[in-house]
Amino acid sequence: MQYRESDVENFRKLINRAKRAVFFGGAGVSTESGIPDFRSQDGLYKQKYKYPPETILSHTFFAKHTEEFYEFYRAKMLCLDAQPNAAHRKLAQWEQEGKLAAVVTQNIDGLHQKAGSRNVFELHGSIWRNYCTQCGMGYPVQRIAKGAGVPRCACGGIIKPDVVLYEEPLDQRVLDGAVKAIREADLLIVGGTSLNVYPAASLIDFFRGDNIVVINRGAPAKDMRGVLFIDGKIGEVFAGV
Ligand code: NAD
Repeated sequence: MQYRESDVENFRKLINRAKRAVFFGGAGVSTESGIPDFRSQDGLYKQKYKYPPETILSHTFFAKHTEEFYEFYRAKMLCLDAQPNAAHRKLAQWEQEGKLAAVVTQNIDGLHQKAGSRNVFELHGSIWRNYCTQCGMGYPVQRIAKGAGVPRCACGGIIKPDVVLYEEPLDQRVLDGAVKAIREADLLIVGGTSLNVYPAASLIDFFRGDNIVVINRGAPAKDMRGVLFIDGKIGEVFAGV
């Protein structure tokens, strides 16, 4: 453990005073639930594929190599049995206690909702929603997980996950809701994210309050001077708050 107990104590004081804190998180929130992130030592960028993950998870690749996209997506992104960890659970508890107003996440795994969080802005969509690119018909994730090859709708159209691929814009309503929540927050908690993916990472610039707490293994890419930085595993840290 590289952080001091006094830092966790300060975090505890801040959250106990908060009335509309916002949590902004990424893939590192779910590594303790067994889902690999992108940039850790054992993250997907360190594993060997024919193409880098950000190429496979791009709109162009999906359009041109749909079958290969689905091979990777089924093997690496669909973690349907993963369960929320202490960080997901604590955030849901804080929302219920009236301390936390919203979770803004870059994750697509749905674990915040599984833990009980209600006001969740999924900047990059969700593996749990899928739709036909031709007629718009919705499909449960099992339709993607169970089959092989390219999943197709009854109308013949290709089914696509409701996940924001590289080169695709974020959903404007989700973006607006996230910005509003961050702008109105009295405490910003950032965790489990390298802050490398834009425009998502830029959203924290909308925060107007005084206190930011960062819980991450290693410092995120963005300059975060003046914040309370806790260098540790987010599930372990949150369990102790
Ligand atoms: P990232 O992989 O770039 O960064 C993850 C960060 O979390 C790293 O700094 C890492 O050191 C830290 N981290 C890992 N485990 C941690 C833990 N237990 N406690 C604290 N910190 C921990 O992830 P990102 O910033 O979210 O950006 C990459 C993109 O990856 C996002 O767009 C996201 O959509 C996508 N992604 C999502 C999932 C998911 O839904 N679970 C999984 C992989 C990738």
